[in-house]
Parts: sequence; structure tokens; C-alpha cells
Amino acid sequence: MAKIQMKTPLVEMDGDEMTRIVWQWIKEELLLPYIDLKTEYYDLGLKHRDETNDQVTKDSAYATKKYGVAVKCATITPNAQRVEEYNLKQMWKSPNGTIRAILDGTVFRAPITVKGIEPYVKTWKKPITIARHAYGDIYSAVESRCPAESKAEVVITEKDGKETRLTIKDFDGDGIVMGMHNTDASISSFARCCFNYALDTKQPIWFAAKDTISKKYDHRFKDIFREIYDAEYADKFKAAGMEDYFYTLIDDAVARVIRSEGGFIWACKNYDGDVMSDMLATAFGDLAMMTSVLVSPDGNYEYEAAHGTVTAHYYKYLKGEMPSTNSVATIFAWTGALRKRGELDEIPELCNFANKLEQACIETIESGVMTRSLSILSSIENKRIVDGKELLLCIKERLDALLA
Ligand code: NAP
Ligand code: MG
Repeated sequence: MAKIQMKTPLVEMDGDEMTRIVWQWIKEELLLPYIDLKTEYYDLGLKHRDETNDQVTKDSAYATKKYGVAVKCATITPNAQRVEEYNLKQMWKSPNGTIRAILDGTVFRAPITVKGIEPYVKTWKKPITIARHAYGDIYSAVESRCPAESKAEVVITEKDGKETRLTIKDFDGDGIVMGMHNTDASISSFARCCFNYALDTKQPIWFAAKDTISKKYDHRFKDIFREIYDAEYADKFKAAGMEDYFYTLIDDAVARVIRSEGGFIWACKNYDGDVMSDMLATAFGDLAMMTSVLVSPDGNYEYEAAHGTVTAHYYKYLKGEMPSTNSVATIFAWTGALRKRGELDEIPELCNFANKLEQACIETIESGVMTRSLSILSSIENKRIVDGKELLLCIKERLDALLA
């Protein structure tokens, strides 16, 4: 069979530990035999990030802006222990944070659903995608303890010196205070990312905040979403035959999400998204079956698995044992990126290949072949528990059958 030809390269961001090993397997077994794979390679492995003073991370993000589509392997975010382990020059920032800041993007997370691994919520029939606004609010707040009989105020000083003072609290006893912010620019980017991704994936979009209580702060989010939707997206949604954008209060949204069938995007403020994404991931099953894509407001895409580098499995692998690492979310990062590249460059064979590879993953698990952590969740009878490499080879066998 002739290999599928690509036009524009994918930005390939390699990573660390067990996922770096899985990355190689995926390329060797599932991609290179079928595709004349064109990538622009960036090694985001911690060693190379250190050697380049993290410049490679920035370069990979700029390349994503240039080409439009990237696929990323999980990477170590260094902490003190990693600084020692890798003898690092400094504690480099989270690569995902750096890339997100450069692309000004929003992260969308969605579970890969398979028969036999039913969500804990019985009504959920389709995946729920969560979009988290990854800027501001309590994540970049200032806070302080306040002694008894102190006064806490918000002071806004304008360019011309005009001052507005608001009293937060005249404390009788000891207390605490926090000052947080967001910007119209960031909220607008977030809204555009959400509406673009909804159009892209043809899913309804919900946004929820607490505007009844927070009449200026959360209300600003609500207004910006509404203004941008009406001005830039309402017509596009109508033309695509999609449901109108839906706003509701966050507590109402939680109730509706639980009663829903799924199949929509839930846009959340930063803290809500942090909490709710972990709730959804657990309720749908397994972190190893969660995909993630960073979408920028001007339409660049970076695909990855939601899980990390699976450190414990890597140490096992180094000792010569074969760990039970599930490669499916990393495979879906590749298929997401290849399909997007295929759509942009009008290469239907590439889209078809991506779809078939995803189908092969799902059918393999639904046939009962799976890694240990999935087997604990799956209700399928006659399971065959395999290690990480075997799972990948079973997926390959099915892919060959589907392509034949
Ligand atoms: P993790 O790598 O996601 O692993 C946590 C545990 O979840 C694993 O020990 C494993 O459990 C299970 N697991 C996750 N992915 C799996 C898979 N594909 N197959 C089977 N089991 C899987 O998270 P972590 O241990 O908190 O972080 C490890 C490193 O990854 C850290 O250095 C962190 O900075 C980095 N990280 C990177 C990203 C990213 O690049 N996007 C995201 C998160 C974390 P068992 O050991 O019980 O099998
Ligand atoms: Mg969290």
C-alpha cells in the first residue's frame, strides 16, 4: 500500500519518561508504516529544555503559530526533586504553561468513551468536553491575613491619578483577604476559543458563572461571552444548524450536567474548570483515556494526552520490566493532530486514517484486550490483560484489518 502523503508538517513536541518511550512505539508501529510523516521536531525532553535554557519550548510554540497544528508528548514539570535528579540549571516553568501563554489558548479536555467502561453517571451517553479558562482569578491573586481591628480596601488608581476606594471589610477579629483580577482581553480570547471549538466539533456550548452574586466580576464574563457570540458567532452557529450558545448559573449548570446525556462543551471559569475537570475525568473512568487540546483564538491547535509522563512505569521499564502503560490517549493526540492537518490541507486519506486508527483503539478495548487499570473498570467478560507494548501491537493488528 502506498504511504499517505502530507503537505504541511506537524509540529512534533517530544517529551519525557514513559510517554517518550510510548511516543516512539506509536511512530514506529502505527504511523511511519502508513504515512510519509512530515514533522518539525522539537525535543521538549527535560534534558534538552535545560540545555537550551527552555528556548526549545518557546520555539515549539512559535512553530505551532506558524503551522497551525502540533502534537505534544507529556513532559515533566520540574520541582525541587527533579532539579536534583536531572541536575538542572534552574526549575524551568511548566512547558504547558509556557505554550499556553504564547498561543493565548484554552484547553479542552474530553474522555474517550468505550463500551464496558460506563460513566458513573447513568444518563451520560456521550463525552462531555470541559473548557477551562486558564488565566487569572485566584490563580494569580494576592492574599493576606488581616489582624483584628484592621481595614481591608480595594484601591483602583487610574492613569490620571483618580482613585476609587472600596471597603472590603472592617475587621473586628482576625481575618483573611484576597484580591484577584481578570482582563477583558483574556476573557474575550477564552470566549472566541470556546465558540471556535464548538463550531469545529459541532457541539453545543454552555458557559456558567455566578453573575447573580458577583454583579461586576462574573457579570463581565457573562456580558463578554454574549457580546462576542451575538456579534461574531450567532450567524455561523445558525448556518451550521447548531443550538444557540447557552448561559446559565454555575450551580444550575452542575445540576444540568449530571442530568444530561453529554455531547456538549462546558466552558468554565478558572477555578470551576480546575475542580470540574477532575470530577468529569473520574466520573468518565480513567485519566489514561482523557484527551486534551489547546485551541488558540486565531485557530491553532495543540493536541496531547491529559495524563503525565507516568513516572512509576518508566522506572519499571528501565529495570527491564514491561509496564502496563495505556497509550490510547497519546494515540488520540496524534490522530487529532493528523485529522486536523488533513482537514486544513484537504487530504481526506489522512482524515480517514486518523478515524480508522481511533476505531482500532476503541474496538481493541471493546473486544476485551486492555491494560490493567482499564480492566479494573471494565465490565466486559473474558478480558485479556496485556502490557503496554502488547496493547499497541493488538491495536496495530486491528488497524491493518480495518485498512485492508
Ligand atoms: P501521571 O503521569 O498522569 O501518572 C499518575 C498515575 O496515573 C500513574 O502512576 C498511573 O497509575 C496512572 N496513569 C496515568 N497515565 C497512565 C497511562 N497512560 N497508562 C496507565 N496508567 C496511567 O501523573 P503524575 O505521576 O502526577 O506526574 C508524573 C509527571 O508527569 C510529573 O513530572 C508531572 O510534572 C508530569 N505531568 C505532565 C503533564 C503534561 O505534560 N501534560 C500532565 C500531568 C503531569 P499507576 O502507577 O497506579 O499505574
Ligand atoms: Mg485540578
